[in-house]
Amino acid sequence: MFETLGNKLQDILEKVGHEKALTEDQVKATMREIRMALLEADVNFGVAKDFVAKVSAQAVGQKLSGSLDAGQTVIKLVHDELVEMLGGDKAEPTLVEGGRNVWFMVGLQGAGKTTSTGKLASLYKKQGKRILLVAADTQRPAARDQLEVLARQVGVPVLKVEDGEAPSSIRSRIDAQLAQQPADLVIVDTAGRLQIDEALMGELAALSGELKPTETLLVVDAMTGQEALNVARAFDERVRVSGLIMTKLDGDARGGAALSARSVTGKPIYFAGVSEKLSGLEPFYPDRIAGRILG
Ligand code: GDP
Repeated sequence: MFETLGNKLQDILEKVGHEKALTEDQVKATMREIRMALLEADVNFGVAKDFVAKVSAQAVGQKLSGSLDAGQTVIKLVHDELVEMLGGDKAEPTLVEGGRNVWFMVGLQGAGKTTSTGKLASLYKKQGKRILLVAADTQRPAARDQLEVLARQVGVPVLKVEDGEAPSSIRSRIDAQLAQQPADLVIVDTAGRLQIDEALMGELAALSGELKPTETLLVVDAMTGQEALNVARAFDERVRVSGLIMTKLDGDARGGAALSARSVTGKPIYFAGVSEKLSGLEPFYPDRIAGRILG
């Protein structure tokens, strides 16, 4: 996904990489080029501007014109700022040993919510966790069936809600199921819509209020660009998002949405979807991604 941006940044940095000293004008020109490359990759305007301002300030602070390995220092500053932009340290959702863990999956239809629910079940089952999946789309039986198929593939139980089932009924059926068959982690795949609408948000908020999730994971399709990030605010306002799953990082989008997501939403990116397969979910490592981008 980040190939074009990576190639561009590598070219820009290649030019200064071997310089033992850099004039202020050279630093400025490099920063302008980096800003252009970020914008061309569809990075959010404010995020790109901030990025360059921070690297510039540090470069000036380190008086690069006099430094022995000025070019290398710029490369390091760009790398470190990329890591920062992607969230710094790797973050993961909280899973309390022996505690109540209920994860709520939210997002627009087609973002990869149901697929990611199956992938999470697979990942945590491999770690020895007992999982219960809940297919909680009260309007689309096909969505519930899709999760049931995935649950069967992973080998975990699934509880399907009924058409129009009330949140309180869903909660008591989950409790009854857990009393019979305890689980370390309950993952609830909620309803998605093609666009955010008040009915969807009201329904999600009601279910969230009833189930009191310990994590609310917003699934975002990295292929849909900056627009994908606008939906985050709407979801956050109603159901308080705790972290993101960026899907389709294996696609050929320019990558700006994935790169800006952390800064624009203020939420950590927990996982990256990298294929359609059940095994295609990876923890999101900012330093590895920065390393990959800079080659
Ligand atoms: P939902 O409506 O949000 O539940 O979306 P789905 O889980 O049904 O996914 C929509 C489509 O995206 C399906 O064709 C998935 O196979 C595909 N998909 C989901 N995640 C990924 C991913 O990380 N990479 C790729 N290439 N495809 C994905």
